[in-house]
Amino acid sequence: MAEKRNAKYVVDYDKPSPKLPAHRLKVDPRFVKRIVQVDADTVPGAEFYSQAKWIVPGSENEIKLVDSHTHSFGELIGFFGFNYDDIQDLGAEIEITIDNETHKVTRSFAAFVPAGVQHGPLIIRNVVRPIFHFIAGDCEIYE
Ligand SMILES: [Zn+2]
Repeated sequence: MAEKRNAKYVVDYDKPSPKLPAHRLKVDPRFVKRIVQVDADTVPGAEFYSQAKWIVPGSENEIKLVDSHTHSFGELIGFFGFNYDDIQDLGAEIEITIDNETHKVTRSFAAFVPAGVQHGPLIIRNVVRPIFHFIAGDCEIYE
């Protein structure tokens, strides 16, 4: 059977060997599980970047995802808990620094960081339930 005409827009795999900038830190794939990445490499012509991950319990150490950095594009950063009885409950603590101001968050949240605004580090602690993590940026390839 021929592939459907618009199948190229549907991504159901992780981007193989993504090149990440130095501020994106190596994390243990047992606890940070990449799902899919949409960008101009995985969907030719995509005008923005996004990546979805599950972060799961079990790490004995805090998980630092990124160091301090800035982008030339705006970025959405979201963390969403998996407590059906209280869907705002993150089930973890996220420390996020934006423009050198640190926030500690224990509720599901999304943040928008405008272009040129410093952000990071981004640190995850005390994960008691899986967390869905989603980021998106107004760029064809994340850098
Ligand atoms: Zn960023």
